[in-house]
Amino acid sequence: METIPRLCLECNKPLKGRIDKKFCDDYCRNAYNNKSKVEESAYVRYINQVLKKNRRILGELMGNEEMTKHPKTKFTNKGFDFGYYTHQYINKKGNIYFFCYEYGYLPLEGEWYLIVKRKS
Ligand SMILES: [Zn+2]
Repeated sequence: METIPRLCLECNKPLKGRIDKKFCDDYCRNAYNNKSKVEESAYVRYINQVLKKNRRILGELMGNEEMTKHPKTKFTNKGFDFGYYTHQYINKKGNIYFFCYEYGYLPLEGEWYLIVKRKS
């Protein structure tokens, strides 16, 4: 019976010993775990950046108004990413507002958006 050699997740060398072993030794385990922590925090950092940028753009578009409407191009020209938001709010009419922190937007007809700010 042929068995497929199990490889160390860090250095890809064949593993000997216990079937549930994933690493040659502590060195490889630590190296692997540290790397995935770095990758994970890079991903978190990236999303945080997008969210903060979205928030900044909403703030710029809103200015000192209580509520304002803009076409989609105004958002996209500034680099707004509609794929990222912090949370949603559904009002009594069933309209879904997408929030980036305290700023929210509601999609309107014809690719226009209403921007609102959460009252503190
Ligand atoms: Zn190894």
